[in-house]
Amino acid sequence: MTSSQTPPPSATDRSRGVSAHTQILLGMATGGVAGLLARKLLPATPDGTANTTLEFMARNIAEPLGQIFLRLIFMVVVPLVFAALALGVAQIGDLRRLGRLGLRTLGFTVLLSSLSVVIGLGLVNSLRPGMRLTTQKREDLKRRYATGDIKAVSQAKQAKTAKDTLLDIIPRNPLQEMVGAIDGSSPGGGMLAVMFFALAVGVAITTRPDETRALVATLDGVYHVAMAVIGFAMRLAPIGIAGLVFSVTALLGVEILSTLAYYMGTVILGLCLHMFGVYSACIAVFARMSPRTFFAGIWEAILTAFSTSSSSASLPTALRVAEKGLGIRRDIASFVLTVGSTANQNGTALYEGITVLFLAQVFGVELTIAQQLQVVLMSILAGIGTAGVPGGSLPLVVIVMQSVGVPGEGIGIILGVDRLLDMCRTTVNVAGDITIAACVDRAEKNA
Ligand code: ASP
Repeated sequence: MTSSQTPPPSATDRSRGVSAHTQILLGMATGGVAGLLARKLLPATPDGTANTTLEFMARNIAEPLGQIFLRLIFMVVVPLVFAALALGVAQIGDLRRLGRLGLRTLGFTVLLSSLSVVIGLGLVNSLRPGMRLTTQKREDLKRRYATGDIKAVSQAKQAKTAKDTLLDIIPRNPLQEMVGAIDGSSPGGGMLAVMFFALAVGVAITTRPDETRALVATLDGVYHVAMAVIGFAMRLAPIGIAGLVFSVTALLGVEILSTLAYYMGTVILGLCLHMFGVYSACIAVFARMSPRTFFAGIWEAILTAFSTSSSSASLPTALRVAEKGLGIRRDIASFVLTVGSTANQNGTALYEGITVLFLAQVFGVELTIAQQLQVVLMSILAGIGTAGVPGGSLPLVVIVMQSVGVPGEGIGIILGVDRLLDMCRTTVNVAGDITIAACVDRAEKNA
């Protein structure tokens, strides 16, 4: 990257004397408390349908506030991903070093994703949350939620073969891929295809350094503009996040929460074990850093991931904390975190494993060891292919379910609590990207 790439002044750093993460935390707490209070004051009807005034407030006031914040970030994610990755690669310069970085990143991704799915399957097999439901409750759930027209199921029906999925990583028309990268409507590989294009541009730049100076300066400008816009958006973060959290807490039925408490507990326990156990060990062993320093340094990224449920929306914050909070070199952070925001989703892989087996238990489908292994493999791959947006993994969960004979419509059973779990798994996804960046940075120093 060029020398002009000093970190952009962050709107979140110390505005109004209160640190960014304190403001975000305050926004989250205010939204959560207000949501719970509103739910108490405007209770749901006995059959569990939300109160209409409460629903109006959540959908027409709180959610739009959250959406303004999210959209301001999403608006610059594609240019940011493209510029950060192309510049990162261009700055790495040496193709051999790039190959080594790529292999290391891939190695850590496969290792951490495999461990996460193994933790998930171990827990779901030992705690058996699907069996904790009475037969009556199970039948109720199936009747009430596992029917109807569910978006994730129709999306899963359009699923491509493995060969096409791999081929689609190479875009036929990168601009078309960029257009649909955020909402999943691109004809090919979406964000992965955009990344491939950025990689190709970055590599090409390294072969013609003199002729491409102007292009590098332009990409540098795009990177800074994107970061500046995100700085504006982050000024709104406390309000936007309060809105997002309000709508989750106000609309989530207490009844469904208690019914699915075992399932949610299993997912959250698995995510905590992975985040604080596996990541801490990885950070201590491979990055030679104290896990306490690590988590203290990435706090702001954790809060952003938790409240936005989006790895893509958390990317700018992740880039900043990696560099400023942990001192990871910018070229390495740009490469690992940008690729990781789509391709490394440990929390999602763990969640997918647990969800598929939980629903298999609810539907009374016995899975053989071979089928469980299939779930492991497919969950790892699905983690790699998941878009870093809220609910991005749902169509892939349906595909994994169907592949082992669990009805796809069954996803309806867990949709009510998905947003909450999405917040938790996205946190693990983003922390995992930064873990890998720290480990790769350390390994590169020793190389
Ligand atoms: N929301 C997740 C992320 O952005 C993806 C998912 O699991 O749905 O990382």
